[in-house]
Amino acid sequence: VTQTFVMVKPDGTKRGIVGDIMSRFEHRGFKLIHAKQLVMSSAMAEQHYSHLSAKPFFQELVDYITSGPVFAMVWEAENAVQLSRSMIGPTNPAEASPGTIRGDYGTSVEANVIHGSDCPENAEREISVFFGQ
Ligand code: ATP
Ligand code: MG
Repeated sequence: VTQTFVMVKPDGTKRGIVGDIMSRFEHRGFKLIHAKQLVMSSAMAEQHYSHLSAKPFFQELVDYITSGPVFAMVWEAENAVQLSRSMIGPTNPAEASPGTIRGDYGTSVEANVIHGSDCPENAEREISVFFGQ
């Protein structure tokens, strides 16, 4: 059993779809470990997206993710990272199939509703950044 970090982004909290997203994880057999709403600081956002710091859209991304509340969660399941990524769908909602979270709710590459850790090492790092050890 492994854990992953998932976070509803400001477009998702604004639209009131946190409950639906949590239901999807519950229905798929994930167990909720932690959850909280917060507004990310710029420092936290820059660290969270440090792998994209050289990209031309980096500042926009940091401004966007700090623009309103996010809803951070830790979920536990067999192959939690892989399974959650398949439920979330590809980065660009235009390429995401209906039935995935981004395919059902995403409106643009930026407003793509949700973040999910992309590997177990990053899941562990992100969990400790948001929830401590
Ligand atoms: P996330 O990390 O948010 O779960 P991801 O792993 O699918 O998404 P990453 O490559 O880690 O994608 O990019 C992080 C976020 O940066 C994306 O979710 C998206 O909001 C934004 N992003 C990625 N590529 C672009 C782009 N070409 N233009 C604008 N924003 C982008
Ligand atoms: Mg990512």
